[in-house]
Amino acid sequence: RPVIDQDWPQPDATLRNAADTARKIAAAVRGLNGIVTDVLSFARLERGRLEFDMVDVPIDETLAAAGAHIEPQLLSRGLHYEYHGGDPACTCRADRDKLRQIVLNLLSNAMKFSPPDGSVTLDWSTTDEAVQIHVRDTGRGIPADKLDLIFEPFVQLDTSFSARLEGTGLGLAISRELARAMGGDLTVDSEPGRGSTFTLVLPVAQ
Ligand code: ADP
Repeated sequence: RPVIDQDWPQPDATLRNAADTARKIAAAVRGLNGIVTDVLSFARLERGRLEFDMVDVPIDETLAAAGAHIEPQLLSRGLHYEYHGGDPACTCRADRDKLRQIVLNLLSNAMKFSPPDGSVTLDWSTTDEAVQIHVRDTGRGIPADKLDLIFEPFVQLDTSFSARLEGTGLGLAISRELARAMGGDLTVDSEPGRGSTFTLVLPVAQ
């Protein structure tokens, strides 16, 4: 009966809907997983329970790999991504996983707060004592009077429902604590409407 044929979803459509629902569930689980990980790391950090495995970390290789990990997501959001590498022999003193965690947090923020067609750049330079790692975006930027605030735990400048769903406001607080615990720091420069540059400083390996 043609009427029923039209009213009932075709098998193809049903499968497509199921695949779509599965993708949405997977994305929600990834989101929740990120929130749980953030809250647990923050709690451990606050209680001094986090251990650091400080070694000489090859900067170029580590940053290239972190960028390559997130590049598909950046590109799928219509962003341009560039990594500017440097001397492969340069090393810094850090916990490799924590360095990677900070850089991924900065890159994913650059992605979240940039409109499609924007650019995200990862580059680095060294002085005698320190390595400066820059994550630059051409996104919406941060007002001057909020530049300190964003490093406070649970602070999110955009309080819309969808923005809150995408994070906890803990990422930068954790990243700065991790950087400081490794003898470095995390700072920001920004111009509203033009973009932001986050700079992670770490000691060079002696
Ligand atoms: P979350 O990303 O979970 O919201 P963060 O601690 O990483 O938490 O960031 C805190 C807030 O700082 C964000 O909610 C946003 O308002 C602001 N912010 C962080 N990175 C950027 C960026 N690259 N551009 C503009 N605003 C940013």
